[in-house]
Amino acid sequence: MARYTGPVCRICRREGMKLFLKGERCFGPKCPIVQRQPAKNFPPGQHGQKRTRRPSEYGLQLREKQKIRRMYGIMERQFRRHFEEAERRGGVTGENLLQILEMRLDNVVYRLGFADSRNQARQLVRHGHFTVNGRKTNIPSFIVKPGDVVAVRPQSREREYFKIVAETAGSKQVPEWISRDMESLSGRIINAPTPDQIERPPFNEQLVVEFYSR
Ligand code: SF4
Repeated sequence: MARYTGPVCRICRREGMKLFLKGERCFGPKCPIVQRQPAKNFPPGQHGQKRTRRPSEYGLQLREKQKIRRMYGIMERQFRRHFEEAERRGGVTGENLLQILEMRLDNVVYRLGFADSRNQARQLVRHGHFTVNGRKTNIPSFIVKPGDVVAVRPQSREREYFKIVAETAGSKQVPEWISRDMESLSGRIINAPTPDQIERPPFNEQLVVEFYSR
């Protein structure tokens, strides 16, 4: 699967906000978005410091779409597929889209505190360390449903990494729509998250809907 392997802080600088792509380090003082004076918080690259013009309507829609897509670490084609699914579901497409993104298996693993970042969560899922309802599932884009149980595989619990997770993840907060059991290193999906249950930087998902509806 294609994925972005370049420097990730660059992505936050491009979007002009913290997207929390590096796990714990994003909360430390070394985050470039925090470290730089506001005047130096320009986009990366050779032309980043050029005088910026007022963005067009298209530009605003594009940036909003990129922010959300990059925060969840998804490539364009898959993001578009999620958008099409959100449209099919009926109701408010923007809210549906966020719900689908939140209910991806890699995001659930991240929200459970079993990985420091979504990137790491994706790798752990890919390497087959998780089960959904007792069945090994190694597809990061798998969409969980209310009632599903996501757990670390029994064999994987013996690994050093998950021994550390068992000791430390308990201190991490989980969202209201998931209940976590540290004994079995698992989590049950209580309900599909409502917009106010989704912790995120200030996004305007409506602009994403407009972007794809051009
Ligand atoms: Fe880098 Fe994290 Fe700060 Fe983004 S939020 S710039 S990924 S340290």
